[in-house]
Amino acid sequence: HDLPLHNWQNTLEEISNEIRPLLSKGKVADYIPELGTADKQAFGISISLINGSEYYVGDALTNFSVQSISKVFSLTKAFSILKDDLWKRVGKEPSGNPFNSLVQLENENGKPRNPFINAGAIVVADCVVSNTEDSLNLIIDYIRELAGNKNIQLNQAMLQSEKSFGHRNAALAHFMKSYGNIESDVDEVLDFYFGHCSLSMNCQDISRAFLYLANHGVHPRNNRRYLSASQAKRINSLLLTCGTYDAAGDFAFRVGLPGKSGVGGGIAAIIPGLLSICIWSPGLDKYGNSLAGVKALELFTTKTGISIF
Ligand code: GLU
Repeated sequence: HDLPLHNWQNTLEEISNEIRPLLSKGKVADYIPELGTADKQAFGISISLINGSEYYVGDALTNFSVQSISKVFSLTKAFSILKDDLWKRVGKEPSGNPFNSLVQLENENGKPRNPFINAGAIVVADCVVSNTEDSLNLIIDYIRELAGNKNIQLNQAMLQSEKSFGHRNAALAHFMKSYGNIESDVDEVLDFYFGHCSLSMNCQDISRAFLYLANHGVHPRNNRRYLSASQAKRINSLLLTCGTYDAAGDFAFRVGLPGKSGVGGGIAAIIPGLLSICIWSPGLDKYGNSLAGVKALELFTTKTGISIF
């Protein structure tokens, strides 16, 4: 990649201007009341390069609800603890079903298809809860360390909203427990899962936090190894095939990068060996991915000519 020749800031500004008309087109998630309050006009992009350079545009420093993006961090933790034993508990295939679907679990004996659908993330949550003490505080500190920001906090109102409307997630957890695929107490596992989904972070926190996945498992900002190079490759592969709900094929086709979206409107993506990027725009498409966010990432790889392919 001919880094010094590329004007990243210009590219971000061009993208930001081009996607503006799309902001009104998406629909803000409202399955819990607390998410429905997000501002549809908000839009931000942050990129963090492995070489230390950073660029951002728009509302990249405004906090939003990370939701499913946090599943990547809990997966990283669980994978580093359990190594390949993790895959006895959760699969590696795209689901082809909505993220909160129950139907496949019955045919597959309570083993979720992948770690990014809710059932899979709940099993991953159980792996962390069953193998660590004070697990929620531990994962919050872990995420703070990855982002290099001690001020990252739980949004308590979001957490309460998730818990009071989380019946489907509770159903998934109990159903998997009936197959023996949840070891710890279901309520403890759900508290952990809802907890990490309810963190507030901004685009810059998230693009910084994802850098270890762009750098073979070593975070270039603190030089710590979070995963082996092989494990980082595996998580990136899962992000490409399963990271954007039931539209991962369309995302891979249009964007050509491993990425993870959340219903808060954030999407994080990685260009291995170069950078990580986070985009936020709360209006979602029908699959639950940020509508302007996917378009912005498509423009990013098109304009820069850089993707993993
Ligand atoms: N906490 C959310 C749920 O489980 C995550 C939604 C998401 O971002 O996919 O419903």
